[in-house]
Amino acid sequence: MYTEKSIAIVIPVYNEADALRSNFLAIKAILDADDIACRFMFVDDGSKDTTWSVLESLGKEFPEVGAVRFARNFGKELALCAGLDSIDADLFVTMDSDLQHPPKYIKPMLERMDAEGVNLVEGIKASRGTETLKYKLVAKSFYKFLKWITGLDMDNSSDFKVMDREVVESIRRFKERNLFFRGITNWVGFKRVSFPFEVEERQGGNSHFSTAKLMLLAGNAILSYTSKPLYLTLFSGVLFLIFAIILGIQTLFNYFSGHAISGFSTVILLLLITGSMVMLSLGIIGAYISRIYEEIKDRPRYIISKKI
Ligand code: UDP
Ligand code: MG
Repeated sequence: MYTEKSIAIVIPVYNEADALRSNFLAIKAILDADDIACRFMFVDDGSKDTTWSVLESLGKEFPEVGAVRFARNFGKELALCAGLDSIDADLFVTMDSDLQHPPKYIKPMLERMDAEGVNLVEGIKASRGTETLKYKLVAKSFYKFLKWITGLDMDNSSDFKVMDREVVESIRRFKERNLFFRGITNWVGFKRVSFPFEVEERQGGNSHFSTAKLMLLAGNAILSYTSKPLYLTLFSGVLFLIFAIILGIQTLFNYFSGHAISGFSTVILLLLITGSMVMLSLGIIGAYISRIYEEIKDRPRYIISKKI
């Protein structure tokens, strides 16, 4: 046996019926070959296909497989949380079901953890091979902006992680609904190392994250991780106040020296700029207020309908 510690593998799944079984067998084969004993906790994130019956048959066949089923799709972030809530172990591994987080790296990650005595090993996407020019231009600068505003590396960071009990216990104390898993694992602190890994091709099915969904996730990450944008509006407010004072002085000067005829372009520009700044600020404030509203309702974070 590789380690005395008990290991739990948490895998969120959503509409993965086609390849789930073969992917699970592939993960299990590699872990067996590496002599790693572990239990699995699948979270069926409200799949609309036969994912749950695949999990049921896996549960019958393999005693180490457990699963919970959400009553509807709550999203990958909450699925990861529910997985960590539903199983107990000394070490927890979170990974995707589509083999994009290659199971062959689990052993090296556990070794890193031991060797460096850290609480958390974070999988970092090392290369992304096939990048189009559009991706480089748009997505890259978008991620740069995100990193600047939240301090989170959304582009290269991943949910492929090994965590010890301490980290998971602190994650379990989070009560918020709108959370971003990579955000909270970053927020809790603890000793950590990065582990670069090569992302592999998806095995079976299609990605559930379209560009639009990724944008939503990014927005979610910002809103749930930082309130900096609120200060951004304060900052632009101050900037425009300075601007206004300068222009105000100039206007008054022109008025008193009898030159105050032209200047419509200035008026139009000012109207446009202040109008958009006010709308933008209101929008940002609105986004945070809607978050407050959602959290204050204090609904359960997720509903589990079935268990194995
Ligand atoms: N997933 C989930 N809920 C969702 C969407 C995805 O649990 O609403 C799971 C999915 O089954 C997979 C993992 O999250 O195991 C990663 O999803 P996917 O491969 O679609 O994302 P990508 O790799 O393209 O980022
Ligand atoms: Mg994937």
